Amino acid sequence: MKIQAVRGFKDWLPEDFVKYEYLINIARGILKNYNYKEIKIPILEKTDLFIRSIGEFTDIVQKETYTFLDRNKEFLTLRPEATAGICRMVIEKGLFVSPKPLKFFTIGPMFRHERPQKGRLREFFQIDVELFSELNPYIEAEIVFLAMEILKAPICLFKEDLPEIYTLELNSLGCPKCRPKYKEALIKFLKEKKEILCETCKQRIARNPLRVLDCKVETCKEVVSKSPVITEYLCEECKTHFENIKDILKFMGVQYIENPRLVRGLDYYVRTIFEIKAEGLGAQDTVAAGGRYDFLLKELGGQHLPAIGFAIGLERWAISIFGDKENKGIFSSEKFLEKLCPDVFIILLGKELLMNGLKLATLLRKKGLRCEVTYEEKSLKAQLKNADKLSAKYSLILGEEEIKKRSAILRDMRKGIQKDINFENWEDLSHKVYKEIKE
Ligand code: ATP
Ligand code: MG
Repeated sequence: MKIQAVRGFKDWLPEDFVKYEYLINIARGILKNYNYKEIKIPILEKTDLFIRSIGEFTDIVQKETYTFLDRNKEFLTLRPEATAGICRMVIEKGLFVSPKPLKFFTIGPMFRHERPQKGRLREFFQIDVELFSELNPYIEAEIVFLAMEILKAPICLFKEDLPEIYTLELNSLGCPKCRPKYKEALIKFLKEKKEILCETCKQRIARNPLRVLDCKVETCKEVVSKSPVITEYLCEECKTHFENIKDILKFMGVQYIENPRLVRGLDYYVRTIFEIKAEGLGAQDTVAAGGRYDFLLKELGGQHLPAIGFAIGLERWAISIFGDKENKGIFSSEKFLEKLCPDVFIILLGKELLMNGLKLATLLRKKGLRCEVTYEEKSLKAQLKNADKLSAKYSLILGEEEIKKRSAILRDMRKGIQKDINFENWEDLSHKVYKEIKE
Protein backbone atom coordinates (compact mmCIF):
# COMPACT_ATOMS: atom_id res chain seq x y z
CA MET A 1 0.00 0.00 0.00
CA LYS A 2 1.19 3.46 -0.90
CA ILE A 3 2.01 5.62 2.10
CA GLN A 4 0.62 9.12 1.98
CA ALA A 5 1.49 12.27 3.90
CA VAL A 6 -0.61 13.10 6.94
CA ARG A 7 -3.66 15.13 5.97
CA GLY A 8 -2.99 18.88 6.10
CA PHE A 9 0.80 18.38 6.20
CA LYS A 10 2.49 19.60 3.04
CA ASP A 11 5.70 18.85 1.23
CA TRP A 12 7.66 21.79 -0.05
CA LEU A 13 8.96 20.90 -3.48
CA PRO A 14 11.92 22.92 -4.77
CA GLU A 15 9.60 25.28 -6.64
CA ASP A 16 7.72 25.95 -3.38
CA PHE A 17 10.90 26.26 -1.40
CA VAL A 18 12.40 29.07 -3.49
CA LYS A 19 9.31 31.19 -2.97
CA TYR A 20 9.13 30.62 0.76
CA GLU A 21 12.86 31.18 1.07
CA TYR A 22 12.53 34.45 -0.80
CA LEU A 23 9.80 35.70 1.55
CA ILE A 24 11.64 34.51 4.65
CA ASN A 25 14.79 36.32 3.56
CA ILE A 26 12.85 39.53 3.04
CA ALA A 27 11.35 39.24 6.51
CA ARG A 28 14.72 38.44 8.08
CA GLY A 29 16.35 41.47 6.47
CA ILE A 30 13.68 43.88 7.66
CA LEU A 31 13.51 42.40 11.16
CA LYS A 32 17.26 42.79 11.50
CA ASN A 33 17.01 46.48 10.74
CA TYR A 34 14.36 46.83 13.43
CA ASN A 35 16.83 45.14 15.80
CA TYR A 36 14.92 41.90 16.31
CA LYS A 37 17.06 38.85 17.06
CA GLU A 38 16.30 35.44 15.63
CA ILE A 39 15.81 32.56 18.02
CA LYS A 40 14.68 28.95 17.84
CA ILE A 41 12.29 27.42 20.34
CA PRO A 42 11.22 23.76 20.51
CA ILE A 43 8.38 22.41 18.42
CA LEU A 44 7.20 20.36 21.40
CA GLU A 45 6.27 21.83 24.77
CA LYS A 46 4.48 20.61 27.86
CA THR A 47 0.74 20.72 27.30
CA ASP A 48 0.25 22.86 30.40
CA LEU A 49 2.09 25.75 28.81
CA PHE A 50 -0.55 26.11 26.12
CA ILE A 51 -3.47 25.55 28.47
CA ARG A 52 -2.18 28.30 30.72
CA SER A 53 -1.21 30.75 27.99
CA ILE A 54 -3.67 30.33 25.16
CA GLY A 55 -6.53 29.57 27.53
CA GLU A 56 -8.33 26.39 28.40
CA PHE A 57 -11.56 27.40 26.68
CA THR A 58 -10.14 28.61 23.39
CA ASP A 59 -10.80 26.75 20.14
CA ILE A 60 -7.10 26.04 19.82
CA VAL A 61 -6.72 24.26 23.13
CA GLN A 62 -10.15 22.64 23.08
CA LYS A 63 -10.01 21.07 19.66
CA GLU A 64 -6.99 22.02 17.59
CA THR A 65 -3.89 20.82 19.40
CA TYR A 66 -1.88 17.71 18.67
CA THR A 67 -1.48 16.41 22.21
CA PHE A 68 -0.15 13.04 23.28
CA LEU A 69 1.38 11.15 26.17
CA ASP A 70 5.04 10.52 25.57
CA ARG A 71 6.95 7.47 26.78
CA ASN A 72 7.43 9.08 30.19
CA LYS A 73 3.66 9.47 30.54
CA GLU A 74 3.88 13.21 30.26
CA PHE A 75 1.41 15.23 28.19
CA LEU A 76 3.16 17.06 25.37
CA THR A 77 1.75 19.28 22.62
CA LEU A 78 3.02 20.22 19.19
CA ARG A 79 3.12 24.01 19.38
CA PRO A 80 0.05 25.65 17.79
CA GLU A 81 1.77 29.06 17.96
CA ALA A 82 5.07 30.50 19.14
CA THR A 83 4.21 33.20 21.68
CA ALA A 84 3.78 30.78 24.57
CA GLY A 85 7.11 29.10 23.89
CA ILE A 86 8.94 32.40 23.67
CA CYS A 87 7.41 33.52 26.98
CA ARG A 88 8.46 30.24 28.56
CA MET A 89 11.97 30.84 27.26
CA VAL A 90 12.10 34.40 28.63
CA ILE A 91 11.06 33.14 32.07
CA GLU A 92 13.20 30.02 32.10
CA LYS A 93 16.34 31.85 30.95
CA GLY A 94 15.70 34.74 33.33
CA LEU A 95 15.76 37.30 30.55
CA PHE A 96 13.92 39.83 32.71
CA VAL A 97 17.29 41.17 33.78
CA SER A 98 18.46 41.71 30.18
CA PRO A 99 18.37 45.24 28.77
CA LYS A 100 14.97 46.15 27.34
CA PRO A 101 13.41 46.03 24.91
CA LEU A 102 13.77 42.30 24.35
CA LYS A 103 13.04 41.73 20.69
CA PHE A 104 12.83 38.24 19.22
CA PHE A 105 11.58 36.52 16.13
CA THR A 106 11.34 32.91 15.11
CA ILE A 107 10.36 31.19 11.89
CA GLY A 108 9.04 27.66 11.84
CA PRO A 109 6.13 25.23 11.69
CA MET A 110 3.02 25.36 13.90
CA PHE A 111 0.47 22.58 14.23
CA ARG A 112 -3.29 22.78 14.54
CA HIS A 113 -5.81 20.05 13.92
CA GLU A 114 -8.18 22.09 11.77
CA ARG A 115 -10.15 21.20 8.67
CA PRO A 116 -7.69 21.58 5.78
CA GLN A 117 -8.79 23.98 3.05
CA LYS A 118 -7.36 26.86 1.07
CA GLY A 119 -5.11 28.83 3.45
CA ARG A 120 -5.72 26.36 6.27
CA LEU A 121 -3.27 23.58 6.94
CA ARG A 122 -2.47 21.39 9.90
CA GLU A 123 1.22 22.10 9.64
CA PHE A 124 1.81 25.71 8.63
CA PHE A 125 4.68 28.15 9.02
CA GLN A 126 4.71 31.38 10.93
CA ILE A 127 7.09 34.27 11.13
CA ASP A 128 6.54 35.17 14.75
CA VAL A 129 7.71 38.49 16.18
CA GLU A 130 7.63 39.43 19.89
CA LEU A 131 8.73 42.47 21.89
CA PHE A 132 8.96 42.64 25.68
CA SER A 133 9.26 46.00 27.40
CA GLU A 134 7.33 48.72 29.14
CA LEU A 135 5.12 49.77 26.25
CA ASN A 136 3.94 53.06 24.84
CA PRO A 137 1.94 53.96 21.74
CA TYR A 138 5.08 54.49 19.67
CA ILE A 139 6.42 51.00 20.30
CA GLU A 140 3.02 49.52 19.57
CA ALA A 141 2.43 51.56 16.43
CA GLU A 142 5.92 50.63 15.25
CA ILE A 143 5.25 46.92 15.50
CA VAL A 144 1.98 47.26 13.57
CA PHE A 145 3.86 49.30 10.99
CA LEU A 146 6.59 46.66 10.87
CA ALA A 147 4.08 43.90 10.10
CA MET A 148 2.78 45.93 7.16
CA GLU A 149 6.33 46.74 6.00
CA ILE A 150 7.26 43.08 5.85
CA LEU A 151 4.14 41.99 4.00
CA LYS A 152 4.44 44.79 1.44
CA ALA A 153 8.17 44.49 0.86
CA PRO A 154 8.03 41.99 -2.05
CA ILE A 155 5.49 44.13 -3.86
CA CYS A 156 7.59 47.27 -3.39
CA LEU A 157 10.60 45.50 -4.81
CA PHE A 158 8.90 44.37 -7.97
CA LYS A 159 6.28 46.95 -8.86
CA GLU A 160 6.36 50.67 -9.24
CA ASP A 161 2.66 51.23 -8.68
CA LEU A 162 1.77 49.31 -5.57
CA PRO A 163 -1.45 47.42 -5.63
CA GLU A 164 -3.08 47.85 -2.23
CA ILE A 165 -3.73 44.22 -1.45
CA TYR A 166 -3.30 44.37 2.33
CA THR A 167 -5.83 45.86 4.72
CA LEU A 168 -5.02 46.60 8.32
CA GLU A 169 -7.76 46.27 10.92
CA LEU A 170 -7.26 47.70 14.40
CA ASN A 171 -9.07 47.51 17.70
CA SER A 172 -8.46 48.00 21.40
CA LEU A 173 -9.64 45.29 23.76
CA GLY A 174 -9.32 47.58 26.77
CA CYS A 175 -7.66 46.66 30.04
CA PRO A 176 -8.66 44.82 33.24
CA LYS A 177 -10.24 48.08 34.39
CA CYS A 178 -12.65 48.54 31.51
CA ARG A 179 -13.00 45.21 29.74
CA PRO A 180 -15.07 43.48 32.44
CA LYS A 181 -17.80 46.09 32.03
CA TYR A 182 -17.88 45.43 28.31
CA LYS A 183 -17.84 41.70 28.84
CA GLU A 184 -20.82 42.02 31.14
CA ALA A 185 -22.76 44.03 28.58
CA LEU A 186 -21.85 41.56 25.85
CA ILE A 187 -22.90 38.55 27.92
CA LYS A 188 -26.22 40.21 28.71
CA PHE A 189 -26.78 40.91 25.01
CA LEU A 190 -25.78 37.38 23.95
CA LYS A 191 -27.97 35.72 26.55
CA GLU A 192 -30.98 37.48 25.09
CA LYS A 193 -30.10 36.09 21.67
CA LYS A 194 -28.96 32.70 22.89
CA GLU A 195 -31.58 30.71 20.96
CA ILE A 196 -30.35 31.99 17.59
CA LEU A 197 -26.66 31.32 18.25
CA CYS A 198 -24.85 28.19 17.06
CA GLU A 199 -24.11 25.42 19.56
CA THR A 200 -20.47 26.45 19.97
CA CYS A 201 -21.40 30.06 20.63
CA LYS A 202 -23.98 29.03 23.21
CA GLN A 203 -21.08 27.47 25.10
CA ARG A 204 -18.93 30.49 24.50
CA ILE A 205 -21.27 32.90 26.32
CA ALA A 206 -20.07 31.67 29.68
CA ARG A 207 -16.55 30.59 28.76
CA ASN A 208 -15.26 32.98 26.16
CA PRO A 209 -17.94 35.50 25.13
CA LEU A 210 -15.60 37.69 23.07
CA ARG A 211 -15.00 34.78 20.71
CA VAL A 212 -18.65 34.89 19.64
CA LEU A 213 -17.72 38.10 17.81
CA ASP A 214 -15.41 36.01 15.64
CA CYS A 215 -17.87 33.23 14.77
CA LYS A 216 -18.11 32.45 11.05
CA VAL A 217 -21.69 31.05 11.20
CA GLU A 218 -24.09 33.35 9.32
CA THR A 219 -26.79 33.54 12.01
CA CYS A 220 -24.16 34.35 14.66
CA LYS A 221 -22.66 37.01 12.42
CA GLU A 222 -26.09 38.55 12.06
CA VAL A 223 -26.53 38.67 15.86
CA VAL A 224 -23.04 40.00 16.40
CA SER A 225 -23.55 42.85 13.93
CA LYS A 226 -25.86 44.46 16.49
CA SER A 227 -23.83 43.68 19.60
CA PRO A 228 -22.42 46.34 21.92
CA VAL A 229 -18.89 47.40 20.93
CA ILE A 230 -15.85 47.68 23.19
CA THR A 231 -15.08 51.19 21.95
CA GLU A 232 -17.93 52.55 24.02
CA TYR A 233 -16.62 50.95 27.19
CA LEU A 234 -12.93 51.87 27.07
CA CYS A 235 -11.61 53.78 30.07
CA GLU A 236 -10.00 57.19 29.51
CA GLU A 237 -6.46 55.77 29.55
CA CYS A 238 -7.25 53.06 27.02
CA LYS A 239 -9.12 55.51 24.84
CA THR A 240 -6.25 58.03 24.77
CA HIS A 241 -3.75 55.26 24.23
CA PHE A 242 -5.68 53.94 21.24
CA GLU A 243 -6.06 57.47 19.80
CA ASN A 244 -2.30 57.96 20.07
CA ILE A 245 -1.56 54.77 18.20
CA LYS A 246 -3.92 55.76 15.42
CA ASP A 247 -2.35 59.23 15.20
CA ILE A 248 1.13 57.71 14.84
CA LEU A 249 -0.03 55.29 12.14
CA LYS A 250 -1.69 58.14 10.29
CA PHE A 251 1.51 60.15 10.51
CA MET A 252 3.40 57.17 9.03
CA GLY A 253 0.91 57.02 6.17
CA VAL A 254 -0.58 53.67 7.17
CA GLN A 255 -4.18 53.17 6.12
CA TYR A 256 -6.30 51.23 8.59
CA ILE A 257 -9.85 50.28 9.36
CA GLU A 258 -11.12 50.47 12.91
CA ASN A 259 -13.03 47.29 13.59
CA PRO A 260 -14.64 47.54 17.04
CA ARG A 261 -15.65 43.88 16.86
CA LEU A 262 -12.20 42.55 16.08
CA VAL A 263 -11.12 39.97 18.66
CA ARG A 264 -8.34 37.41 18.67
CA GLY A 265 -8.60 33.68 19.15
CA LEU A 266 -6.38 33.65 22.21
CA ASP A 267 -7.25 34.76 25.72
CA TYR A 268 -4.22 36.76 26.59
CA TYR A 269 -4.59 40.02 24.68
CA VAL A 270 -5.15 43.48 26.18
CA ARG A 271 -5.56 46.85 24.50
CA THR A 272 -4.07 46.90 21.00
CA ILE A 273 -4.93 44.08 18.62
CA PHE A 274 -4.72 43.96 14.84
CA GLU A 275 -5.16 41.78 11.80
CA ILE A 276 -3.94 42.22 8.26
CA LYS A 277 -6.08 40.78 5.51
CA ALA A 278 -5.13 40.19 1.91
CA GLU A 279 -6.97 39.95 -1.37
CA GLY A 280 -7.12 36.70 -3.28
CA LEU A 281 -7.22 34.43 -0.25
CA GLY A 282 -10.92 33.66 -0.10
CA ALA A 283 -12.41 32.84 3.29
CA GLN A 284 -9.06 32.50 5.09
CA ASP A 285 -7.90 35.99 4.31
CA THR A 286 -5.99 36.97 7.45
CA VAL A 287 -2.29 36.94 6.63
CA ALA A 288 -0.98 38.34 9.89
CA ALA A 289 -2.40 38.94 13.31
CA GLY A 290 -1.17 40.14 16.64
CA GLY A 291 -1.61 42.23 19.71
CA ARG A 292 -0.49 43.28 23.12
CA TYR A 293 -0.37 40.97 26.11
CA ASP A 294 0.68 42.49 29.42
CA PHE A 295 -0.03 39.75 31.92
CA LEU A 296 1.01 36.55 30.22
CA LEU A 297 4.58 36.39 31.54
CA LYS A 298 3.42 36.93 35.10
CA GLU A 299 0.67 34.34 34.71
CA LEU A 300 3.22 31.82 33.50
CA GLY A 301 5.27 32.36 36.63
CA GLY A 302 7.55 35.18 35.54
CA GLN A 303 7.78 38.82 36.52
CA HIS A 304 5.46 41.50 35.26
CA LEU A 305 6.61 42.53 31.81
CA PRO A 306 4.26 43.81 29.09
CA ALA A 307 4.66 42.53 25.56
CA ILE A 308 3.33 42.86 22.04
CA GLY A 309 3.77 40.64 19.03
CA PHE A 310 2.38 39.33 15.79
CA ALA A 311 2.61 36.32 13.51
CA ILE A 312 2.58 36.18 9.74
CA GLY A 313 1.17 33.03 8.17
CA LEU A 314 3.87 32.19 5.59
CA GLU A 315 1.68 30.08 3.27
CA ARG A 316 -1.06 32.71 3.16
CA TRP A 317 1.49 35.46 2.54
CA ALA A 318 2.88 33.39 -0.32
CA ILE A 319 -0.56 32.96 -1.90
CA SER A 320 -1.16 36.72 -1.71
CA ILE A 321 2.11 37.35 -3.55
CA PHE A 322 2.50 34.44 -5.97
CA GLY A 323 -1.13 33.42 -6.33
CA ASP A 324 -2.38 29.86 -6.57
CA LYS A 325 -4.59 27.78 -8.84
CA GLU A 326 -7.43 30.30 -8.61
CA ASN A 327 -5.75 33.69 -8.66
CA LYS A 328 -2.73 35.14 -10.38
CA GLY A 329 -1.00 36.84 -7.48
CA ILE A 330 1.12 39.95 -7.71
CA PHE A 331 4.03 38.60 -9.67
CA SER A 332 4.78 35.48 -11.61
CA SER A 333 6.80 32.71 -10.11
CA GLU A 334 8.88 32.17 -13.27
CA LYS A 335 11.62 34.40 -11.93
CA PHE A 336 11.89 32.10 -8.97
CA LEU A 337 11.96 28.88 -10.91
CA GLU A 338 14.85 30.33 -12.88
CA LYS A 339 16.86 30.22 -9.65
CA LEU A 340 16.62 26.44 -9.69
CA CYS A 341 18.19 26.00 -13.13
CA PRO A 342 21.89 25.04 -13.25
CA ASP A 343 24.05 27.95 -14.33
CA VAL A 344 26.40 25.59 -16.03
CA PHE A 345 26.31 21.95 -17.05
CA ILE A 346 29.73 20.40 -17.62
CA ILE A 347 29.97 17.92 -20.45
CA LEU A 348 33.07 15.69 -20.40
CA LEU A 349 33.87 13.81 -23.58
CA GLY A 350 36.30 11.07 -22.65
CA LYS A 351 37.15 8.98 -19.63
CA GLU A 352 40.41 10.84 -19.05
CA LEU A 353 38.50 14.00 -18.28
CA LEU A 354 36.19 12.82 -15.50
CA MET A 355 38.69 13.60 -12.75
CA ASN A 356 39.38 17.09 -14.10
CA GLY A 357 35.65 17.63 -14.48
CA LEU A 358 35.18 17.24 -10.75
CA LYS A 359 38.00 19.68 -10.10
CA LEU A 360 36.59 22.25 -12.50
CA ALA A 361 33.09 21.89 -11.06
CA THR A 362 34.51 22.49 -7.58
CA LEU A 363 36.19 25.70 -8.72
CA LEU A 364 32.99 26.94 -10.39
CA ARG A 365 30.89 26.06 -7.33
CA LYS A 366 33.31 27.93 -5.09
CA LYS A 367 32.59 30.98 -7.20
CA GLY A 368 28.90 30.56 -6.46
CA LEU A 369 27.69 29.00 -9.69
CA ARG A 370 25.03 26.29 -9.62
CA CYS A 371 26.91 23.57 -11.43
CA GLU A 372 26.01 20.06 -12.66
CA VAL A 373 28.33 17.42 -14.15
CA THR A 374 27.69 14.04 -15.77
CA TYR A 375 30.45 11.66 -14.87
CA GLU A 376 29.53 9.34 -17.69
CA GLU A 377 30.80 8.55 -21.10
CA LYS A 378 27.94 9.63 -23.27
CA SER A 379 27.75 11.26 -26.66
CA LEU A 380 27.75 15.03 -26.92
CA LYS A 381 24.27 14.92 -28.35
CA ALA A 382 22.88 12.89 -25.46
CA GLN A 383 24.54 15.13 -22.88
CA LEU A 384 23.35 18.35 -24.52
CA LYS A 385 19.87 16.93 -24.51
CA ASN A 386 20.16 16.22 -20.82
CA ALA A 387 21.50 19.74 -20.13
CA ASP A 388 18.47 21.05 -21.96
CA LYS A 389 16.04 18.90 -19.98
CA LEU A 390 17.58 20.14 -16.74
CA SER A 391 17.13 23.73 -18.03
CA ALA A 392 20.83 24.52 -17.72
CA LYS A 393 21.62 28.06 -18.75
CA TYR A 394 25.05 27.15 -20.17
CA SER A 395 26.90 23.99 -21.13
CA LEU A 396 30.66 23.80 -20.85
CA ILE A 397 31.98 21.20 -23.28
CA LEU A 398 35.40 19.61 -22.77
CA GLY A 399 36.84 17.12 -25.23
CA GLU A 400 40.20 15.36 -24.99
CA GLU A 401 41.52 16.94 -28.18
CA GLU A 402 40.42 20.41 -27.10
CA ILE A 403 41.98 20.05 -23.68
CA LYS A 404 45.33 19.34 -25.26
CA LYS A 405 44.96 22.66 -27.06
CA ARG A 406 43.75 24.33 -23.81
CA SER A 407 40.38 25.20 -25.25
CA ALA A 408 36.78 24.58 -24.15
CA ILE A 409 33.39 25.42 -25.60
CA LEU A 410 30.79 27.43 -23.68
CA ARG A 411 27.32 27.06 -25.12
CA ASP A 412 24.51 29.44 -24.24
CA MET A 413 21.62 26.98 -24.10
CA ARG A 414 18.87 29.59 -24.34
CA LYS A 415 20.28 31.42 -27.33
CA GLY A 416 21.79 28.35 -28.97
CA ILE A 417 25.12 30.08 -29.59
CA GLN A 418 28.55 29.00 -28.45
CA LYS A 419 32.09 30.28 -28.20
CA ASP A 420 35.57 28.91 -27.62
CA ILE A 421 37.32 29.74 -24.42
CA ASN A 422 41.09 29.47 -24.33
CA PHE A 423 42.67 28.96 -20.95
CA GLU A 424 45.95 28.32 -19.19
CA ASN A 425 44.84 26.10 -16.33
CA TRP A 426 41.63 25.00 -14.59
CA GLU A 427 41.63 27.99 -12.28
CA ASP A 428 41.90 30.27 -15.29
CA LEU A 429 39.09 28.44 -17.08
CA SER A 430 36.77 28.66 -14.10
CA HIS A 431 37.51 32.37 -13.89
CA LYS A 432 36.75 32.95 -17.56
CA VAL A 433 33.56 30.88 -17.48
CA TYR A 434 32.38 32.79 -14.43
CA LYS A 435 33.02 36.08 -16.19
CA GLU A 436 31.18 34.96 -19.32
CA ILE A 437 28.14 33.82 -17.38
CA LYS A 438 27.87 36.59 -14.85
CA GLU A 439 28.87 39.56 -16.96
P1 ATP B 1 -7.85 32.16 11.64
O1 ATP B 1 -8.89 33.09 12.13
O2 ATP B 1 -7.56 32.30 10.18
O3 ATP B 1 -8.06 30.74 12.07
P2 ATP B 1 -6.13 32.52 13.86
O4 ATP B 1 -6.72 33.65 14.58
O5 ATP B 1 -6.36 31.14 14.33
O6 ATP B 1 -6.50 32.62 12.31
P3 ATP B 1 -3.44 33.20 14.63
O7 ATP B 1 -3.37 32.25 15.72
O8 ATP B 1 -3.53 34.63 14.95
O9 ATP B 1 -4.58 32.77 13.62
O10 ATP B 1 -2.19 32.97 13.65
C1 ATP B 1 -1.60 34.02 12.90
C2 ATP B 1 -1.58 33.70 11.43
O11 ATP B 1 -1.15 32.37 11.20
C3 ATP B 1 -2.94 33.76 10.76
O12 ATP B 1 -3.28 35.07 10.44
C4 ATP B 1 -2.70 32.91 9.53
O13 ATP B 1 -2.03 33.65 8.53
C5 ATP B 1 -1.79 31.84 10.04
N1 ATP B 1 -2.56 30.63 10.36
C6 ATP B 1 -3.27 30.35 11.47
N2 ATP B 1 -3.81 29.13 11.40
C7 ATP B 1 -3.45 28.62 10.21
C8 ATP B 1 -3.68 27.37 9.54
N3 ATP B 1 -4.39 26.40 10.10
N4 ATP B 1 -3.14 27.18 8.31
C9 ATP B 1 -2.38 28.15 7.73
N5 ATP B 1 -2.12 29.33 8.31
C10 ATP B 1 -2.65 29.57 9.53
MG1 MG C 1 -7.72 29.60 13.82
